[in-house]
Amino acid sequence: DSPSEKFEYQAEVSRLMDLIVNSLYSNKEVFLRELISNASDALDKLRFLGVTQPEILKDGVDLDIRIQTDKDNGVITITDSGIGMTRQELVDCLGTIAQSGTAKFLKALKDSKDAGADSNLIGQFGVGFYSAFLVSEQVEVSTKSPKSDKQYVWVGEANSSTYTIREETDPAKLLPRGTRLTLYLKRDDKGFAHPERIEKLVKNYSQFVSFPIYTWQEKGYTKEVEVDKDPAEAKNDGEDATAEKKKKTKKIVEKYWDWELTNETQPIWLRSPKEVSKEEYNEFYKKTFNEYLEPLASSHFTTEGEVEFRSILYVPSVSPMGKDDIVNPKTKNIRLYVKRVFISDDFDGELFPRYLSFIKGIVDSNDLPLNVSREILQESRIVRIMRKRLVRKAFEMIQGISLSENKDDYDKFWENYGKHLKLGCIEDRENHKRLAPLLRFFSSQSDEFTISLDEYVENMKPDQKDIYYIASDSVTSAKNTPFLEKLLEKDLEVLFLVDPIDEVAIQNLKSYKEKNFVDISKEDLDLGDKNEDKEKEIKQEFGQTCDWIKKRLGDKVASVQISNRLSSSPCVLVSGKFGWSANMERLMKAQTV
Ligand code: ADP
Ligand code: MG
Repeated sequence: DSPSEKFEYQAEVSRLMDLIVNSLYSNKEVFLRELISNASDALDKLRFLGVTQPEILKDGVDLDIRIQTDKDNGVITITDSGIGMTRQELVDCLGTIAQSGTAKFLKALKDSKDAGADSNLIGQFGVGFYSAFLVSEQVEVSTKSPKSDKQYVWVGEANSSTYTIREETDPAKLLPRGTRLTLYLKRDDKGFAHPERIEKLVKNYSQFVSFPIYTWQEKGYTKEVEVDKDPAEAKNDGEDATAEKKKKTKKIVEKYWDWELTNETQPIWLRSPKEVSKEEYNEFYKKTFNEYLEPLASSHFTTEGEVEFRSILYVPSVSPMGKDDIVNPKTKNIRLYVKRVFISDDFDGELFPRYLSFIKGIVDSNDLPLNVSREILQESRIVRIMRKRLVRKAFEMIQGISLSENKDDYDKFWENYGKHLKLGCIEDRENHKRLAPLLRFFSSQSDEFTISLDEYVENMKPDQKDIYYIASDSVTSAKNTPFLEKLLEKDLEVLFLVDPIDEVAIQNLKSYKEKNFVDISKEDLDLGDKNEDKEKEIKQEFGQTCDWIKKRLGDKVASVQISNRLSSSPCVLVSGKFGWSANMERLMKAQTV
C-alpha cells in the first residue's frame, strides 16, 4: 500500500457526526437512502459533463449503481460509475460541511429542540454521507475522477476525529471511474448485509432514482442431470445389477449469484398522470426535494405543439423563506431535464418570475439542446414559451387550492404566499387577471376571515360602482378610522389593506371586474349621494369658518373643505387626490430613514 496521509475533520463535521449518530439511532436504515442518493447525484453530474465532453462516457461503462453484500463478514459495497472525486475533492467534500442537505438537517435539529419534534422527522432530511457511520465501524471510499489519473481511498472510522487518504494501488480494486463505498458494519448492524434486506430497502427508498440499481442476489435454476443408479435400485427396477451401471435423470437446483435490477427506472413524470397516485407524487416530491412535509398541491402535465415538455409542479406547504422575507428568485426549486438528462437546478427567474419562485418541480424538455447553457436559457424562444405555460399551470394549481373543499388549505397557502402574489400584482401586469381572484383581504364586514374580491363584488350594493378600501397598519385601526363612518352608515363594505404591500398591489391592479379601487381616505370620495343645493347652502354658512381654520393652520394643510363624508366625527384629515395616502406616506418615511 502507498503511505496514507492523516487528516483532521473540520470541527463542525465531528459535531455533526455525533448528532447524526445520536438522533437517528432508531432510524439507521436511512444510511442507504443517503448513499444511493449521492451515487445518483454523481451519475447525474457525469452524464451532464458527458454532454459537452462525450469522450468521458466513451469507455463502455454503464451508468448504474451496484450494491453487493457479504453477510458472513458484515460488509456492504456500493459502487457507482459516476463522477468520482479527486484527492482534493475528497478532502473538501468528506472532511468539511458546506452542503445544503446537512445544513438543513442542523437547522431542523435546532428547531426540533425548541419544538420537541421527534427524531423520526429528522430521519427524513438529507443527512448525507456521514449517515454511513450510523451502521459502520469503518467506511472506505475508493474513488476515481475523470479529472485525475489516480484513484484515491478515503478511510474514516466511527468516533474518530481523523481520516486518512491514500492512493489505490491494488490493481484488482481499480475502477474505470466512479466511486466504491465499502461499509464495514458494526457488530449489531451486520444484519444489513443481507441481500434480501438490501433489496427491500432499495425498493422502499430509491424508487425514484433514475439510474438502474443492481443488487447482488443469489439465484437458482433447475436443471436435469444424469446420475448413476445405484445397483440396489437398478435391481429393484428389474435390471441386471451386474451389467454396466444404469443411468437416471434427476432434477437439481443450481445456485449462483448475479446482479439483479432492483428499482424501477422510468421517471415518474414519463408515466401517465392517470396511473400515478397522489401518494406517489408526494413521495417523489419528498425524496426529490428533501422535504418532510407533504406539498399543498401538485400538478402533472404534458404540453405538446409548439414546444413539448413534461412537468410536475408542487406548492410546498410552507414557504422556506418564512412569510416575511424578501423573495429570492435563486432557489434550487426547479430541476430541468433535457430528454431525461438532468441539466440544472440553478435558475434565476428563467422559468418562473420571482414572485412564483416558491413553486417546486421538475421540467423535462425534448426541444432544448442537451448542452443548454445559461445564455441559451435566457435567450431561447422555447424557454419563453415554456415559462408562459409553466406560469399558467402554476396559477391553475393555486386556483385549485382556492377552490378546494378544505378551506384551511387556501388559508395556509395565503398565509405563506400571499405576499408573493401581491408582489406579482406589482411585477406582472400580464397576469393581473389570474392574480386578482386569488387575493384575500379583511374588510369592514369580515374582520376575522379574509374575503376574496369576488366575494366583495357579490356583496356590492346594486348602485355601487367602486370597490372601497382603506389602508392602515392594523385591522383595529382600520375599523376605528373616521373615514369609515359614512360608508358603514350606508352599509358599504370597505376592504382593509393592512399589509404594507397591499396598497401598492391594489393601485397596480387599478380595477377588478371593471370596478375601480377607491381609497376612502382621498379627498374627492364620491358616494353617489351629492346634493348640490344643500352643499351650496352649507358652503355659504361655513365658508368663513373654513377660511379661518386654513389661516390658523397655514402650510400644515393644503386646504380646508366642507365634507359630506362624516357622520359623527367633526373633522378628518384626508389626503389630496393626487397625493400619497397617509399609509403610503408612513411607508415612504420608514424607507427613507
Ligand atoms: P450532499 O449530497 O447534500 O451534497 P453529502 O454529505 O451526502 O451531501 O455528500 C457530500 C459531498 O460528497 C457531495 O456533495 C459530493 O460532492 C461528494 N460525494 C458523496 N458521495 C459521492 C459519490 N458517490 N460520488 C461522488 N461524489 C460524492
Ligand atoms: Mg447527499
